[in-house]
Amino acid sequence: MFIGNGDDLAKMLLSQQANCIKCGQPIVFERGCNLAKECGIEENVVMCGQCYSVFTVHLVPGRMTLQRDVTGTYKDLTAKKTEEELEVRKQKEDRLDQARKATAAKRAAAADKELAEKLERFRKEEEAERAAKAKKWKEIGACGHCGGRIGGLFTKKCKSCGKPQ
Ligand SMILES: [Zn+2]
Ligand SMILES: [Zn+2]
Repeated sequence: MFIGNGDDLAKMLLSQQANCIKCGQPIVFERGCNLAKECGIEENVVMCGQCYSVFTVHLVPGRMTLQRDVTGTYKDLTAKKTEEELEVRKQKEDRLDQARKATAAKRAAAADKELAEKLERFRKEEEAERAAKAKKWKEIGACGHCGGRIGGLFTKKCKSCGKPQ
């Protein structure tokens, strides 16, 4: 039993839904009716927004039932609409795809930059460490390259690495 005023009843009827017999997507009565109407179908049928099948419908408060697949009957009327809807959907998916690709590219670029910065920091740290070591070795009269002992009569050379000093 349904208690309420006419507006409530209409709203309730319009928002009722049933799953498409063909693809299983829910068809809301109002949208299904509008889709059919946009195709120029005047009869009391609904159209699935996912697969564009057309069904006769039985509607009582609280329950919507799809009865018969009548897509074939309205093939000429639905063809153009179906094409339009598919095109709109394709464009939407293309836009989404582009946005996804742009985001992925941005993320990859950011990761590359971060890695390059990390390597640069690491290189600078190593460089500074090496310079500090060389300075210390030279202060104690050792080889500036490896810290080895220096020898040689005429030209001073490292006994460990052989490099001239
Ligand atoms: Zn469907
Ligand atoms: Zn050396």
